Amino acid sequence: MTRACIFCEIAQGKAPKALVYEDDHCLAFMDIHPLGDGHVLVIPVEHAVQITDLAPETSEHLFNVAQRILRGQRRLGLGLNGTHILLNDGEAANQTVPHAHIHVIPRKKGDSLRSASRLLLHVTGLFGARAKRTTLEQQAKALRYELDGRTPD
Ligand code: 5GP
Ligand code: ZN
Repeated sequence: MTRACIFCEIAQGKAPKALVYEDDHCLAFMDIHPLGDGHVLVIPVEHAVQITDLAPETSEHLFNVAQRILRGQRRLGLGLNGTHILLNDGEAANQTVPHAHIHVIPRKKGDSLRSASRLLLHVTGLFGARAKRTTLEQQAKALRYELDGRTPD
């Protein structure tokens, strides 16, 4: 881990996360400043700043997991009309956390204004209000069960 990498801390259980999925190579959790309802981040367990710093099979695995998340979101009714699968690769491309990650951001018809204003805050590094932890935990739980093919209690 590089010094004070928040995603390494999350991967190592040293910082909190609303966990959606994990295996030996990657994990997925809810973004604390969602650009859309149900916004998930998929990250490699190993520290790498850019996607090209990863072995090709690891980056391929991340995209496969992102697609599984996308399908799970759709089964829950999120992003039925569209989803961003986004990778900000490098500082000039608005990467604010220097640990590679894929965003899976469900969109809704008519949410452009809300989404654009949040995106502006994101791009400027200001971000907005954090989502409530309880909301993120509920969404993560629903997604976790959905990926397992089960229904939450
Ligand atoms: P980037 O701008 O690097 O593509 O995106 C970084 C993302 O990480 C942002 O959407 C931001 O909200 C999210 N993020 C930053 N710190 C944390 C954190 O501590 N926990 C979670 N869950 N997300 C974070
Ligand atoms: Zn890291």
